[in-house]
Amino acid sequence: TTFRTHSSFQYANLVVEKNTKKQRLPSDPEKLGFGRYFSNHMIDVDWDAKEGWFAPHIKPFQNFSIHPAAKVLHYAQTIFEGLKAYHGVDGKIRVFRPELNMERMRRTARRATLPDFNTREALLLIDELIRIDADMVPKTDKASLYIRPMLFATDQHLGIGESMQAKWACFTAITGSYFNYDRGIRLLADPEMVRSWKGGVGQYKMGCNYAPTIFVGKLVSRIMAAMQGCDQAMWLSGEDRLVTEAGAMNLFMLWTNEENELELITPPTDSGLLLPGITRQSVVELAREWDLMKVSETNFTMDQLVRAVQEQRVHEFFVSGTAANVGPVSEILYCDKERGVKENLVIPTMSSKMQLVKRLNKTLSDIHYGRIEKKEWQRIV
Ligand code: PMP
Repeated sequence: TTFRTHSSFQYANLVVEKNTKKQRLPSDPEKLGFGRYFSNHMIDVDWDAKEGWFAPHIKPFQNFSIHPAAKVLHYAQTIFEGLKAYHGVDGKIRVFRPELNMERMRRTARRATLPDFNTREALLLIDELIRIDADMVPKTDKASLYIRPMLFATDQHLGIGESMQAKWACFTAITGSYFNYDRGIRLLADPEMVRSWKGGVGQYKMGCNYAPTIFVGKLVSRIMAAMQGCDQAMWLSGEDRLVTEAGAMNLFMLWTNEENELELITPPTDSGLLLPGITRQSVVELAREWDLMKVSETNFTMDQLVRAVQEQRVHEFFVSGTAANVGPVSEILYCDKERGVKENLVIPTMSSKMQLVKRLNKTLSDIHYGRIEKKEWQRIV
């Protein structure tokens, strides 16, 4: 029997088919990498404009079977999320603020003309998936279980129009650390590399935002091989060279601003130019709680950054994201052909007296692994 519901799929209708095969993982968490080892089960839910949502299934991790005309394959009508579950020091598994990911996914679905669903029902399904694969959540604070929900158009017809069929799915991957933070990462800021623009979809987690960045990533690696070495692109926007984000991470700067105030600044989300990160939001909230400095969600330009570095007013610069947590930035290579600029900005993040990145990294990790309690941010599965 299939239960069909219009407003959302329902956890109550879940059908579970257990995987009898178990896979082997490297025992050294350093060897896990990112998104390479998958766990044993996945969620799979179909949607049809006429029928609504079908009963959700949890089934053995397996390939999809997709019609060659499916819109996802041609017009990139696909969206996704990324969040993590952590094995706590008390043996409980915690997911970090997953309701925020589901809400961001629903906003993205609306923009991508994909069907809406209920946040609570999605969270119940994800809880169940993690419980079923609980032994895959690494029992170390050096690794975690990355959760990848996705939603894509499966219509069997080529017209560029509203989708009549879609699939909501979710699988998990065992993941180790993303970067080596011993030296701080290096960013390449070049206004010719553009990720988002006014009126675009930079604020949504749509697959189409990521495809063009792969080529840029390759360029960054090539430049890295040839010169100083950059890890990620720092995305600038427009004639002002507004600083927006880096790679697939948000950005923060701890500086003494032009009014001589100590300020933690991060670009605002209402510009539509960057993804409103859950880690970003958490850093802003923690910093406001700590009340050690002014905390601002305000734009800043490359000119402001260059001047502040020259005047030694930049104390720390760092990235934030689910995969990376918070990570120090030690150099920004600014190449602006149009303006004849080529300058390496050295940021003393690693030697900062305040050690804000370190403190944020520790606090977030303490919350992830349950060393400190912050119930509203920890969903126990
Ligand atoms: N920016 C982009 C473009 C991203 O893809 C991500 C990862 N989701 C982030 C920022 C960081 O967001 P979060 O803290 O929610 O992982």
